[in-house]
Amino acid sequence: MSTGFLNVDLEALVTNWRALDALSTAETAAVVKADGYGLGAGKVGRALMRAGVKRFFVAVAEEGAILRQALGPNVEICIFSGHMRGDTDMIGDMMLTPMINTVGQLTRHLEALPEHPFGIQLDTGMNRLGLEMSEWASVAEIALSQNCRMVISHLACADEPDHPMNRQQLDQFHLMTDGISVPRSLAATGGILLGPEYHFDMVRPGVGLYGGHPFADAQPVAYLDLPVIQIRDVEEGETVGYGNSWTAPRPSKIATVSGGYADGLIRALGAGAHLYHGAQQVPVVGRVSMDLITADVTDLPDLPGALSILGPDQTVDTLAACAGTIGYEILTSLGARYQRRYSGG
Ligand SMILES: *Cc1c(COP(=O)(O)O)cnc(C)c1O
Repeated sequence: MSTGFLNVDLEALVTNWRALDALSTAETAAVVKADGYGLGAGKVGRALMRAGVKRFFVAVAEEGAILRQALGPNVEICIFSGHMRGDTDMIGDMMLTPMINTVGQLTRHLEALPEHPFGIQLDTGMNRLGLEMSEWASVAEIALSQNCRMVISHLACADEPDHPMNRQQLDQFHLMTDGISVPRSLAATGGILLGPEYHFDMVRPGVGLYGGHPFADAQPVAYLDLPVIQIRDVEEGETVGYGNSWTAPRPSKIATVSGGYADGLIRALGAGAHLYHGAQQVPVVGRVSMDLITADVTDLPDLPGALSILGPDQTVDTLAACAGTIGYEILTSLGARYQRRYSGG
């Protein structure tokens, strides 16, 4: 078997949820969109549900329907994209709670499913999703007289604590929601770390649960080991991989491991990334190809059967930095070919 092994530590996931939960007095929900940030929404969701999570968020109704089947009827499943055309049956049958983003969505929802719960998403400056001030003013009374469960908004710059946008959005959220009686939520992972002013009644962490920045105290959750398919000797001056992009500066041992850009190990991480044999690091050399990565293992005392690319010494954020991207993108790109193994939880 040559597929990589993606080991997901559900105990670390739950520990991260508890640690984030302990930072506020608000309810701590969990964001499990994009298949639980690539780690498996069903498994992740069940572990968090057992730990006490009552409310989950996903991006689209289809994700919500799958999650409902995994989690059963006793938790609330909220949909960030709201109530889109074609979603009504799924929202009704699977008991999903859409976060209404436009006046059109509100009309659709109240006409199609008048008794069915919903939330409202407000735009406080990010200009991505949600009702703007004037729209909210025109529908707030109607919305709040119906089965509205929560009012939420999202911060654009929460991973930069000193960014003036945070305070600006906080002020705007107060302006738009002070005095209403339904629960309010503004903070994702970054917002939780900004402090209690940002917590309101509910917080909605995603990436921090999975061990990612900006939750610096997070435990790693994803471990990825890639089997070594072949090890060869190359002479000084020989080249490795597509485009001859690496030339051996000395007689070298090259390990070829199973995993490449088709598995989410994007080409851009070629320069600067390392693979690990325990705590010993070896450099990736040559280009990342579709299914394979080559590494210089000359300095390893023994020849490994597998090398790890995600682990305690190289987190999703370290790996992301090699590729000029963010941990979120590495996580959600993790491919379908890995054998996924779950421990703990
Ligand atoms: C993705 C998302 C979250 C979770 O954000 P993290 O930064 O991963 O914690 C929360 N709220 C909304 C609206 C989102 O889109």
